[in-house]
Amino acid sequence: MTERIDGHTLLISLIATPIRHSLSPTMHNEAFAKLGLDYAYMAFEVGNEELKDAVQGIRALGIRGSNVSMPNKQAIIPYLDELSPAAKLVGAVNTVTNKDGKGHLVGHITDGTGAMRALKEEGVEVKDQIVTMTGAGGAGTAIAIQAALDGVKELRIFNINDQHYKTAEETVKKINENTKCIATLTDLSEQAAFKKSISESSIYIDGTGVGMKPLQEESLINDPEVIHSDLVVFDVVYIPKETKLLKFARANGAKKTINGLGMMLYQGAEAFKHFTGEEMPVSYIQELLFKD
Ligand code: NAD
Repeated sequence: MTERIDGHTLLISLIATPIRHSLSPTMHNEAFAKLGLDYAYMAFEVGNEELKDAVQGIRALGIRGSNVSMPNKQAIIPYLDELSPAAKLVGAVNTVTNKDGKGHLVGHITDGTGAMRALKEEGVEVKDQIVTMTGAGGAGTAIAIQAALDGVKELRIFNINDQHYKTAEETVKKINENTKCIATLTDLSEQAAFKKSISESSIYIDGTGVGMKPLQEESLINDPEVIHSDLVVFDVVYIPKETKLLKFARANGAKKTINGLGMMLYQGAEAFKHFTGEEMPVSYIQELLFKD
């Protein structure tokens, strides 16, 4: 007879669609088991149409917390009672807490803190640095806002002129109005400005997903002269482990190259801390999920 789940076990949910491919249930359940915590984590196929009822379900069932993924990260906001300062600024939520199951739901965003912790764990300090980044979608916005909150001096965002450009404009405005960081936005087609910005930066973050299938043969930097020995290059992609960008940066003498695996693990670890108050055993989980 399994001893893992009984009448006392507390439930954590994940609401998104599609969701069956997610690593989060394995990540959290293995961490609960490792620490002997009486929680279970389950994924529910929930889109925007079912979202309001699903959030009421969290309250009604006393589910202790939930992760939230696409397409619900922004749509869930009207149904929550409170937002963390970062979630408010980003305008998105990936973690909801329901303290003691009392029905007061607080939305948090851990993508940005996860990315910042991934950098920190590699010995990279963002405070007072000049950072260039590409990408201003879901991941890019969370990273940009958290980087600004964590004390980046200048954040120079470059984005192609697509539907995300407007989001990038709003992000830059929010950062300049709410933090000490100076944020700018430039069209990525202005390649001379992009290259100059990287030459003046100590960190380049690619938050676009270029380098992941189907764009695995592409990189937003192809000129070896852009890479310099004081530059840390961080790519949010973790499949493949080394994108074309990271390979190129490493081959051309970048100080450090970091993939998105740490961001993925630490966004989960930050959520785990919100749910349980405990530290996720990150290296154990990493070994379990990502051993070669
Ligand atoms: P999104 O669609 O919301 O945003 C994509 C961004 O990339 C936009 O700013 C868009 O303008 C830009 N972009 C798209 N195609 C481009 C191109 N060809 N050249 C230049 N810029 C381009 O996507 P998202 O949800 O922010 O996800 C982006 C990537 O981040 C994905 O690969 C995703 O898997 C990854 N991600 C990783 C983690 C992690 O934990 N490591 C978390 C979230 C997302």
